[in-house]
Amino acid sequence: TEQAAALATALAEGKAEEWDRRAELPREVIRELGTKGVLCADVPERFGGLGLSSLDNGQLIAATGEVCSSLRSIMTSQGIAAWTVRRFGSAEQQEDFLPRLTSGESAGVAFSEPGAGSDLAAMQTTITRDGDSIVVDGVKVWVTGAHYASLLVVFGRYGTGAAMAVVPTDAAGVDIERVPDPLGCRAAGHATVRLRGVRLPAEHLLGGAGMPVTMLATSPLTHGRISVAWGCVGMLRACLRAVVRHSAKRETFGSPLSEHQLIRRHVAELYAGERTATHACERASADWDAKRPQHISAAVLAKHVAAGQAARGAAGAVQVLASAGAVNSHVVARAYRDAKLMEIIEGSNEISQLLLADEAMTVWA
Ligand code: FAD
Repeated sequence: TEQAAALATALAEGKAEEWDRRAELPREVIRELGTKGVLCADVPERFGGLGLSSLDNGQLIAATGEVCSSLRSIMTSQGIAAWTVRRFGSAEQQEDFLPRLTSGESAGVAFSEPGAGSDLAAMQTTITRDGDSIVVDGVKVWVTGAHYASLLVVFGRYGTGAAMAVVPTDAAGVDIERVPDPLGCRAAGHATVRLRGVRLPAEHLLGGAGMPVTMLATSPLTHGRISVAWGCVGMLRACLRAVVRHSAKRETFGSPLSEHQLIRRHVAELYAGERTATHACERASADWDAKRPQHISAAVLAKHVAAGQAARGAAGAVQVLASAGAVNSHVVARAYRDAKLMEIIEGSNEISQLLLADEAMTVWA
């Protein structure tokens, strides 16, 4: 874990501001991390991964998120794609696709559509079986990493249920157009993906075809929630470091900021946020690693807590740094923009709250 984290942070250290400004990650960086299995480090070693537990992978994701949320977003998508192939792919499909994800190719996961974000059951994309082929038709939006990806895991309607297909981005009928000027995670390569009559061998259809979409999506989303939550822990740590260092140096009214009680309250809240988010992530990862049934709800809780703390913590960090942090290139300004988006993805705040309320009403009935 430490070696992988050191590699990811060494490649991104001092570069994240420029990548954010240019809205582009160097493809060599993605390839190098991919080749070393770092982008989906929980993939077993026999497929070229590092075989990390969720807990260890979480530390790696947090370390990456502390330096660059765009790179961390690529890790999250690659992780979900690889997990989905492990969870739903046949032995042959795992042999076909997983080694590609640990040898420099990257992948995205396409659930969302213009008319289906929170409400995935409203999706219109279709995956149709036609003899030995499948045909994929539809439009997906905001697919993280699609700009860099050679494979996409695409969700679609399949008969009366849903299915997932592995779609190569160079297949005929696939068109990828970047989301222009995103608020945050600007180098994460979000894109609209248009699929027009994309015909693929039936071996590209993953298992579970025909299941209801909410059942099919839960496992990939759970993986993604844990990953996003650890990424938020990373952002909180970056903000803490910036706030503590700045407030020790900057003087107002004859004393360092760090001696003003209202500033110490910001520091305390940020620290409590980082600790709370870390504990929630550790719990979710431990539940995932032990295959406890509650790992699904623990992941919702971790993502909800961590995203909320990161969004509030980054806003507090900008407040403490004030004009020093009020430029887009500053680490706290980046965190402020990036963290807000974490309240939207992998189940928005409101969708998380609906799921948490369902659980509370069952547990406390
Ligand atoms: P809507 O579903 O239109 O919701 C609008 C608002 O209403 C939200 O605040 C929502 O919480 C709230 N709301 C909706 N329904 C309810 C309800 N029943 N009760 C209360 N409130 C409700 N998608 C992918 O498929 N793959 C990706 O890799 C991916 N990456 C993303 C990266 C970023 C940075 C962003 C911003 C989005 C990404 N998305 C991705 C899309 C993301 O999953 C959706 O934006 C998200 O699911 C919300 O959908 P929506 O934007 O259509 O909002």
